Amino acid sequence: MSLISLKNVEVRHGELTALHSVNFSIDKGEIVTVVGPNGSGKSTLIRTIVGALKPSKGQMEHAEGLRIGYVPQKLFIDPTLPISVKRFMSLPRSFPHADVEEALRHTGASGLADRPMSALSGGQFQRVLLARAILEKPDLLILDEATQGLDQPGAASFYRLIETLRTELGCAVLMVSHDLHVVMSASDRVICMNGHICCEGAPEVVASAPEYRALFGSGTDGALALYRHTHTHSHDGDCDHDHDHEDHAHAG
Ligand code: ADP
Ligand code: MG
Repeated sequence: MSLISLKNVEVRHGELTALHSVNFSIDKGEIVTVVGPNGSGKSTLIRTIVGALKPSKGQMEHAEGLRIGYVPQKLFIDPTLPISVKRFMSLPRSFPHADVEEALRHTGASGLADRPMSALSGGQFQRVLLARAILEKPDLLILDEATQGLDQPGAASFYRLIETLRTELGCAVLMVSHDLHVVMSASDRVICMNGHICCEGAPEVVASAPEYRALFGSGTDGALALYRHTHTHSHDGDCDHDHDHEDHAHAG
């Protein structure tokens, strides 16, 4: 059975129909990536799935007791607010110390617990958000443009981490990305959106679909081939290094 399924869903923001005719489901353990231009309804889809928006038409079903870990597109923390990583991990509810340590370790952020959130690099900040999301022991991990602001090697490294987590935690992953070059080959399935689902399928299939090429141009699948070869080794979490830059040697 699917973790989530949407049937013929429409979602409106007031007068604007942001999504229509959406049929979507995700199964246990799958990695699904949603791509599409700005304003194509990617975040609207995610926010509908997490329950922050209600469909104006169609049906949405969740598997019973489904646990979702969600990393939103934007999270603003006032830089004058002195909040440590440890404290952030306990919001809005606290977890046993050992669980917090374990989650930070899982995302390669174990050395960061006592640092102020405002002092983290972009990559470290994302790893902490991810650690917070996996504390929920999710069946489904949802990330909305989690690599925004990271350079391409940093993003590639982050996606490898997601793949490792999927294996270790056995959760499904639904992510939105505009980093087409680095993300697509790691996905079981890619969904290309533009107000509705334009095309979907295995990464290679979507990359060569006319609908996808019309939206993103035909140069993108060469880059896909390039990045398919970057999974040959793993990086253990080590916070003394800046993860944003650890993969420069592979960026080509
Ligand atoms: P994406 O994440 O693909 O960039 P969004 O789902 O954020 O796209 O937005 C889809 C469309 O809905 C856009 O035209 C956007 O301007 C509009 N939209 C998104 N959120 C709101 C909102 N809260 N109120 C009104 N319009 C919105
Ligand atoms: Mg968005």
